[in-house]
Amino acid sequence: MPVTDPRSATLVPRGFDPHPVTGTGFISPVPPGSGWPGDCADATTPVARSAADVVSLAAAASSTAELDAAVSVCRACPRLVQWRESVAVSGRRASYADQPYWGRPVPSFGDPAAPVLVVGLAPAAHGANRTGRMFTGDRSGDWLFAALHRAGYATTPEAVAAGDGLELTGLRIVAGVHCAPPGNQPSPTERRSCAPWLVAELRLAQPQLRSVLALGGIAWEATLSAATAAGWAVPRPKPRFGHGATAQLVRPDGRPVDLVGSYHVSQQNTFTGRLTEPMLDAVIARL
Ligand code: SF4
Repeated sequence: MPVTDPRSATLVPRGFDPHPVTGTGFISPVPPGSGWPGDCADATTPVARSAADVVSLAAAASSTAELDAAVSVCRACPRLVQWRESVAVSGRRASYADQPYWGRPVPSFGDPAAPVLVVGLAPAAHGANRTGRMFTGDRSGDWLFAALHRAGYATTPEAVAAGDGLELTGLRIVAGVHCAPPGNQPSPTERRSCAPWLVAELRLAQPQLRSVLALGGIAWEATLSAATAAGWAVPRPKPRFGHGATAQLVRPDGRPVDLVGSYHVSQQNTFTGRLTEPMLDAVIARL
C-alpha cells in the first residue's frame, strides 16, 4: 500500500521498515515527529524552502535544539532534496534494503554546550542519510567515533544508528552542507545556501567555544566564511588548509578560537594511509 509523506505530499512507494535499533516501523523519508530517535522536529517545525528562508530561520534559532529541528526539515536546495529522497526510496544499498532511510537533512549531533566543534563536509548517501545522525553508519564515521572515543569525547567507539546510546561530551559535530549530495559534491550554490546554518552554529556555540576541527579543505573554507559572516576576525591573507594547519579566529568579545585542519576521514584517505590513526589522534589532542 503506497504511503504519503504528510510533509512533502510526495508519494512514497515504500511501506514501513523496522528501525535497526528500536524496531519501530518508519516510512522513508522519515516524517518529522514520527518517533525516530533524536528527531528534534515535528509537524509544526517551520520549513525553509529557499536560501532566503534559511537565512531568516538560522538567524532566528535561539538554541541548538531549535536549530537542529529547522535544519532537519529544510527543503531549500531542489537538487539535494530530490537526491536524498530518491536514495531513501529507490536508491538504497542492497545491504540496507530492509531498513528505513532518514532521507532528510542531517542535523548537527553532540553536546549543545560544547567547547569544541568538528566540521564535516556533507552526509553520505547510505551513511548519515540513512541513519539520520552525523557520520553514523559508514566507514568514515567508524574512524571518527573511534578517535573521539580514544580522546574521551564519545561514550562508545562505535556508531551504529540513532538510538544506539552513543553520546558526545564536550564536542558537537556540525557540517558545511546538511544534505547528501550526488557524488559527495555539493555545488557552490548549495554550499552558499546551507552556510547560514553553520553561521548559526558558531553564534550559538560562541559563549563556550574554544576550538574547531575542520575535516578537509571544504570544511576549512566553510568555517572561515562562516566565522567572517558571524563577525569574527579572520587572519588575512586567508590561512591555507593542510593536515595540522592552525589559525586563530577571534570572537567579537575578543576571545580566541583555534581552527585546526585535518584530512577528512574519508575511505579515500584512510584506506590509502594518507590519514592514519596517530595523525587523527594528534590533531584531536590539540582541540
Ligand atoms: S543542503 Fe542545507 S540549505 Fe540545502 S536543503 Fe539541505 S539543509 Fe537546506
